[in-house]
Amino acid sequence: MRAFVDLHLHIDGSISLENARQLASLQQIAIPDSEDALRSLLQVRDGCCDLNEFLGKFSFPCSLLQTKEALKKATETLLKELHAQQVSYAELRFAPQKHSDTLCQKQAIEAVLEGMAKGPIPSALILCCMRDKGNEEENLETLSLAKEFQGKGVVAIDLAGAEALYKTNEFGYIFEKARKENIPFTIHAGEADGPQSIWDAINFGATRIGHGIRAIEDPVLMEELAKRKIPLELCPTSNVCTGLYKDLRDYPLRAFLDKGIVVTINTDDMSVCGTTLSLEFEKLKEALQLTGEEIAVLQENAQKAAFSKE
Ligand SMILES: [Zn+2]
Repeated sequence: MRAFVDLHLHIDGSISLENARQLASLQQIAIPDSEDALRSLLQVRDGCCDLNEFLGKFSFPCSLLQTKEALKKATETLLKELHAQQVSYAELRFAPQKHSDTLCQKQAIEAVLEGMAKGPIPSALILCCMRDKGNEEENLETLSLAKEFQGKGVVAIDLAGAEALYKTNEFGYIFEKARKENIPFTIHAGEADGPQSIWDAINFGATRIGHGIRAIEDPVLMEELAKRKIPLELCPTSNVCTGLYKDLRDYPLRAFLDKGIVVTINTDDMSVCGTTLSLEFEKLKEALQLTGEEIAVLQENAQKAAFSKE
């Protein structure tokens, strides 16, 4: 039985200060000595509610993750940190097309898989396609690599990026193919964009939804999610960081639990949001007075919703 499971965790958004220092020294990249200055490159300010600032925090860690050695080391270090935080299983995700300064997508995936193999806890990999214009070829390459590495560490694909700018329904070309190839997928939806993006994702055949919290705006969708038992990968602190909620006390988690929707709690971006999985549970417990029974349901949901059942 897996005790503590994170199903939604971006590698580039979860590079700790120590991990960043190690990666910089490995590659002789100059970074600030001061802890505060380095933190400000990786983490949004307390109380920041600005999506642009949030998205801006990915460029620095990404710049440290452009070689095979760096991706491998970063992944191994991340898994060691998760282990120390009592996480027993993690589904990591990253977009191989964002690590292409010197690598092709396949090399980037191999590097992360090698790092995962050296990690102290079991993990699986989700490959993110990106919401963008003019990157259809890159997205389809990610999909075909997911097929190539399926059963060898890769368990699914995802669609990440600016959801409100590039609507979910523009990406049917990826998921039609994924369905034909039997590659499971989750889609970031119902975060920056409203309930329609979740409808689009489930109509494409997504078997999990990244975030999905804005389903709360559509009672019919809430019914549908409950009926079809489609797990939602909720990321509470991340939603506060991007300004979707002012305070976790406003987070509508209990409405989902009361409806019997399969909700799970995840970190999204540990370093950008300054969080860990245990901190997520602690904060929710305090903000919403979650009961022990509710916490047990959330943890059991995550175990059952994992793409990898090994
Ligand atoms: Zn995410």
